[in-house]
Amino acid sequence: MNNSKIYLSSPHMGGNEQKYINEAFDQNWIAPLGPNVNGFEKDLEEYLSNDVKVAALSSGTAALHLALILCGVERGDEVLCQSLTFAASANPIVYLGATPVFVDSETDTYNMSPQFLEAAIKDRIQKGRKPGAIIAVHLYGMPYKVREIHAIANKYEIPVIEDSAEALGSTYEGQKCGTFGKFAILSFNGNKIITTSGGGALVTKDPQLKEKAIFLATQARDAAPHYQHSSIGYNYRLSNIAAGIGRGQMEVLDAHIAKRREMNQFYNELFSAFDGIKILNAPENSYFCNHWLTVMKLDNSKIPFSTEQLRVHLENYNIESRPLWKPMHLQPVFKDAPYYGERIGEEAFLTGLCLPSGSNLTGEEKQRIQDAVKDFLREKF
Ligand SMILES: *Cc1c(COP(=O)(O)O)cnc(C)c1O
Repeated sequence: MNNSKIYLSSPHMGGNEQKYINEAFDQNWIAPLGPNVNGFEKDLEEYLSNDVKVAALSSGTAALHLALILCGVERGDEVLCQSLTFAASANPIVYLGATPVFVDSETDTYNMSPQFLEAAIKDRIQKGRKPGAIIAVHLYGMPYKVREIHAIANKYEIPVIEDSAEALGSTYEGQKCGTFGKFAILSFNGNKIITTSGGGALVTKDPQLKEKAIFLATQARDAAPHYQHSSIGYNYRLSNIAAGIGRGQMEVLDAHIAKRREMNQFYNELFSAFDGIKILNAPENSYFCNHWLTVMKLDNSKIPFSTEQLRVHLENYNIESRPLWKPMHLQPVFKDAPYYGERIGEEAFLTGLCLPSGSNLTGEEKQRIQDAVKDFLREKF
C-alpha cells in the first residue's frame, strides 16, 4: 500500500505555470517587475472585480505591513486584531511600534465578534486611545460577519484591513472577500489556496493607494534621475518568476476551490453520524467559503476523546492534521497586549482540528483518511 504523507494543504500546480516562467526567462525578466507581475495583478483585479486595484508583493505579511502604514498607524498607536488567527496577522502591528489589542471570536464563523469589537472600541476610546485600524480575518476561508463588523467600523470611523490570506474566492452576499475593507491582503504562500511559492498582495479600491503601496514596496524612490528618498522604503515587490506561477494558478483557482469544497462535503458525510462532531460550515447562504481548510469541532460533553488523540492517531497513519491557530492573546510574545472577549477563541483552539483539505487529494488518499478515521472512531465508541 502506498503510504506517502497526506498533507493538510500542499501546492497544486495547474499546468501552465511553467509556461509563464519560461516566458520570463525568454524575455530576461528575472526581476521583481515585469509582464508576469502586471499580468498577475490584472488577473486578480478581474477575479475580485468591484473595481479593486491590486499590488503584488513578496508576502501577505508585507502587504499587512504596508496596509497599516497607509492607514497612518504609527509608533504608540493601537490596532484592533482578531485574536484567533495566525501570528502574521498581528506581527506587522509590532513592526511599527504599535500595540495590538486582541478581540475574541463569535461561534458562528469563529471570526471577530462584533460584540467584543464594539466593547473594545468603546473602552479604548474611553481610555483616550482610539484604535488606528481593525484587522479582521476570514479564517480558514470562512467570511467574517462583514455587515456587522463594517457597520461598527463605520460608526467609529476606523478603517478595516481585511486579512483575506486564506479566503481568496470566498464571498459574502455574493461579493468577493478582499473587496470590503479600505485595504485587504492576500497570501500566496506554499500552503494557501493558490501559491506563487511565496508571495502576497495588497488590495484597495483607491488607485492612488495602490501607487503609494508600490512606491513604498520599491524602496520609496522619489522622482529624480539619481536615487532620492524622502521616506523610508521597503523591498516588498513580487518577483516576476513567482508572479508567473501565480498567473498559471489563477487559471485553475475556481476548479481548485470546487475540489476543496468537495473535501469539506466528504468530511461532513464522514462525521454526520456522530452527534458530538461538527464541521465548521457556512452559517447562512450569504456566506460562500472556499474551505481552504476544513475545521472539525468536538463537543467534549458528548465525545470520549480529545482532538489531540485523533491528531496523533492520524499521524500514525502518516496523515497530517493540526490544531486551530492558538489565539494571539495566549501567545507568550503578546502576553501583555489588551484582550476583549470571553475565551471563545480559546475554546475553539482546544476543541477544533484542521483536516487534510488539499485540492490535489486523490480518491485513494480520501479512502486512507476515511479508513483511519473510522478505525479511530470504532475504538472510541
Ligand atoms: C498566511 C497568512 C498570512 C501571511 O501571509 P504570508 O504570505 O505567509 O506572509 C496572514 N494572515 C493569515 C490569516 C494567514 O493565514
